[in-house]
Amino acid sequence: MKLAITSGKGGTGKSMVAANLAFTHSSKGPVTLADCDVEEPNLHLFFPSTVQTRDVTLPIPVIDELLCTKCGKCGEFCRYGAISVLPKKLLFFADLCHSCGGCVLVCPEKAISEEPKRIGNLSVSTPAPGLKLVTGVLDIGSPLAVPIIHEVKKETAADPVVILDTAPGTSCPVVEALEGCDACLLVTESTPFGLHDLELAVDVTKRLGIPAGVVINRSDGKDDETLRFCSEHGIEVLLTIPFSREIASIHSIGDLLCRARPEWQKEFLSLFDKAKILAGVEE
Ligand code: SF4
Ligand code: SF4
Repeated sequence: MKLAITSGKGGTGKSMVAANLAFTHSSKGPVTLADCDVEEPNLHLFFPSTVQTRDVTLPIPVIDELLCTKCGKCGEFCRYGAISVLPKKLLFFADLCHSCGGCVLVCPEKAISEEPKRIGNLSVSTPAPGLKLVTGVLDIGSPLAVPIIHEVKKETAADPVVILDTAPGTSCPVVEALEGCDACLLVTESTPFGLHDLELAVDVTKRLGIPAGVVINRSDGKDDETLRFCSEHGIEVLLTIPFSREIASIHSIGDLLCRARPEWQKEFLSLFDKAKILAGVEE
């Protein structure tokens, strides 16, 4: 089962939910936690351990000025504006290049080759028995998050249970992480901003055809608007976590709720079972 944990806005606690779900489920069977929030990965903070890291690269064009006749075909082809061909000079803007390889194919002089360019890295660790953590990290200044998320998903593709922590919001990196998932948990908080962004997140999951349930975090007990919205859209609220100074202080030191307060494990095991039902996964 591939289960995504996402939220319409940042700071709702989706990483906390993902980490606690994975931690509790790892006592029942193997589970992979995939950090797809590659611009700001933070799951490793809950699970410090030795990691194996490898670079993630993309091929980018290298133009041989001696072979180039300035015919302009590569510039006409590139829809990202990464190549501009002037009468006596060819300009290449690496940050705009999406590594589609098209310019290499259309160049009649075979003047374009490719070389790898690092955009980030992927790290894999086993912080606890039964728990594998895969983290994608986008290099600072690199604009392409999607290829790193693609690598994280490739690394976890064969794993039986994968919990993916996406970036917050509804942008391309979120859609890339959500695609192919069996179910999704939308983590929200009962504020006007939380509800507004929950509406956007629900819209994305509906468009992608992914069954979704809601987790309300930091509830102050005044969840009526969120509950009404969920009811109107046929979305079940699967878990409510109260606003609590004790829970906040557990997180503030990088600990897990289910590790510090084992009584919470049954709540997260129950949440996992409900997610399986959402996903239509049999025992
Ligand atoms: S297509 Fe090839 S020959 Fe033509 S401008 Fe581009 S690099 Fe030069
Ligand atoms: S590889 Fe694709 S995106 Fe990059 S410069 Fe060539 S045509 Fe443009």
